[in-house]
Amino acid sequence: MRFDIITVLPSLLESPFAHSILQRAQKKGIAEIHVHNLREYAVNKHKSVDDYPYGGGSGMVMQIEPFAQCIEKLQSERTYDEIIYMTPDGVTLNQEMANDLSTKENIIILCGHYKGIDQRIRDVFVTREISIGDYVLSGGELPAAIVVDAVVRLIPGVLSDETSALSDSFQDGLLDAPIYTRPAEWRGHRVPDVLLSGNEAKINEWRDEEQLKRTKDRRPDLLKD
Ligand code: SAH
Repeated sequence: MRFDIITVLPSLLESPFAHSILQRAQKKGIAEIHVHNLREYAVNKHKSVDDYPYGGGSGMVMQIEPFAQCIEKLQSERTYDEIIYMTPDGVTLNQEMANDLSTKENIIILCGHYKGIDQRIRDVFVTREISIGDYVLSGGELPAAIVVDAVVRLIPGVLSDETSALSDSFQDGLLDAPIYTRPAEWRGHRVPDVLLSGNEAKINEWRDEEQLKRTKDRRPDLLKD
C-alpha cells in the first residue's frame, strides 16, 4: 500500500513514520509513505502557495494550482483509489473507515493550513474528506499521520501478532477489556483471579463480560447497533 502526502511542512511528518510499527511496515515493504513539499509546485517566484480570500475576511487560503500540479504529476505515475482531504468538516474517522482504507492500493492525502484550501480542489480532485474530531488544529499533518497509523497497522503482516489488531477496541463494536501484566499483586492491588486460572474458556467469558460492561458504561452509543 502506498500513501502520498502533500504538505507545506514535510518536516512535521518525518518523525511519526520513522518509528515502531510504521517504520517496520515500510522496512518490510508492506507500506510506502511519500511526503511531497507543496512549495516545490508553487507557481509564483516567492514560492508562496496561499493567497487572500475572495470576499475578504481573515486568514489565507491555499491556492489551487500547486495542489493540482502535484496531484496530476502523481496521477500520471499511477492510479489512485482515493484522494483524501483532512478537514474538520469531513466525516469523523472511525475504525470502520480505517478498515476500509486498509484494503486500498494507493492513497493521496492533502494537508490544509491557514483557513484551508480553495473549494475547487475539493470539488475537482478530492474523493473523501476526513476529520479526526470536532476540534480545529492548525494543519492537516497530524491528522494525516493519524489516518496513516490507523490504516497501516491493519495491513496483514504489519503487526507481529496479527490477531492483536482484531481484538482492539471498536473492531467488534466494543471497547477492549482491562489488561494486566506481572506482578500479580502490586501494592495490594491484585490481578483478577480468573486471569491467573489458566482456564481459557473462563478467561474469554470474563473478557467478553468486561468488554460489554465497559462499553455500556463508557460508550453506550456503540451498543445501539
Ligand atoms: N477554516 C477551517 C479550518 C482550517 S484549519 C474550518 O473552519 O473548517 C487548517 C487545516 O488543518 C485544515 O485545512 C485541515 O487540513 C487541518 N485540520 C484542522 N482540524 C482538523 C481536524 N479536526 N481534522 C482533520 N484536519 C484538520
